[in-house]
This record gives sequence, C-alpha cells and structure tokens, in this order.
Amino acid sequence: MRQQHSYPVEAIVLKRTDLGEADRVLTLLTPTKGKFHAIAKGIRRPISKKAGHLELLSHSQLQVALGRNLDIITQAEVRENFLSLRNDLWHMTCGLYLAELVDRFIEDDTQHPEVYTLMLEMLRGIERDVIDRQRRRENGTELVEQEHGRTNLLLHYFEIHLLSLIGYEPAFRHCAQCASELQPVENGFTPSLGGALCPQCSRFWARPLSMNALKVLRLLQRSKWSEVPRFRLDNSLQLELEVTMHGLLRFHLERDLKSWSFLEMLSLRK
Ligand SMILES: [Zn+2]
Repeated sequence: MRQQHSYPVEAIVLKRTDLGEADRVLTLLTPTKGKFHAIAKGIRRPISKKAGHLELLSHSQLQVALGRNLDIITQAEVRENFLSLRNDLWHMTCGLYLAELVDRFIEDDTQHPEVYTLMLEMLRGIERDVIDRQRRRENGTELVEQEHGRTNLLLHYFEIHLLSLIGYEPAFRHCAQCASELQPVENGFTPSLGGALCPQCSRFWARPLSMNALKVLRLLQRSKWSEVPRFRLDNSLQLELEVTMHGLLRFHLERDLKSWSFLEMLSLRK
C-alpha cells in the first residue's frame, strides 16, 4: 500500500541544508517536477547508505514518499557522480555556480525539462573538460593560461541558454533598442535593455562591446555546446565576456551571485 504514496523521479542535487541532528533538506532539479525540496533522513550519520548517492551535483534515481510538508527521499541510487569534477576545486565551484543560477532563476514546482537537460549536459561537459585536461597534462601539451578557458566558455554558454529558456533571451543579433541588425563593428551593451545596441543607439548610455566579444556570444547562442569549437580567448576578451554576462544576470536577479567572488578568488590564486 505504501507504494501508492511514493513516486520515482530522477534528479540533480542543487543544494543541501542541514536539518536537525542528522537530516538534510535537498533542493532537487528534476525533468518532471521542476525544482523542489525533499528531506533525506539520517543522511549525516556515518552509516547512512543514501549519503554517497545524494552528493551535491550528483545525478541520481530516487524514490520519494509524499510527506505532510516536504516529501521524503526513501531510496537513492546515483547514476552519475561526476567524480573528476568533484575532485577539482575550480571545476566543482563552476558546477555549484550553475546550480546557484538554476536555484535563483527557477521557481519551485514549475516544470522546466529543458533546463534540466541543459544542466545535465553542462555537468557532463565540465566532467569531460577535467578529464581532457588531465590527459593533456600527462602528455605535456597543456598550457597554464589555457587551463580554464573552455570551462569559462561553458559557463557563459549556460548563462545565455538558461536566460533564453526562461524568457530572457539576450539580444545579440539585433539592436535591443531599435532592432536594426548588428554589424561586425564595435557595438554597445546595456543590461537593462537586455543586450547589445547598435553604435547609433549606444552613443549615450551603453558600455562598448567589442566585435570579438559579440562574435563569441553569438556563436554560443546559436550553437550546440558539442559543436562549439575549441578556441583560445585572451584575458581581456575573457574579462569582457564575464563583465557583459554578469551585468545581464545582475540586472535580472537584482543581486550578485555568491559563486562569483569565490570563482574570482580561485582564478587569482592560480
Ligand atoms: Zn539601435
């Protein structure tokens, strides 16, 4: 009879908060129920069988029982635990940044199957980058300054596509003010207008947006991640992309994200 009061669901663990002596409340992202919170009882006890299956960012198959307030996870089996990502502080922080973005932008109990698919694809992408990087290091072909380039690009890919999926598609093809087609010249960018501005419209109040930055942003916007070529970004272009995308996210969220300062600190320490 108990089965009728529970349901199976696959999920990515976005966040966890301690509760009481040994429990945790998990924030889960699922393809069928969107984002919701559930209790994992006894998970902080050393003997917990579920603990290894419900780590942050793990992709797991769950059985969940209906609870009075919050539902309760009764079984968990990890499908992908992204071990390489997890063992590298910078890449783990990038993964947590994606989780923070989803947590901030997605409302509870609203279905977003495409966001789920995107999140999973990006975690797999970061995992692959860490493995590739280890391989290149072993072969002695990794240059230090290229270390984080690919993953930084992945973060911007995620930011652009997440915004688009929730209805805030950034304007990178047409001027966000007058809708004229943007030309390959230096344009402008204004977060409060949702994107790039043609030179005419950016005269008074936009920050400049270089031709190269616009090209990269457009490429990310129109491509599948697997088709984005591996290319090298110099530091100033990398910084410009970051300032541009963070400006847009800050405008939509009306606040900074916690992960930004941590990512910045890790980059400086490198
Ligand atoms: Zn314009």
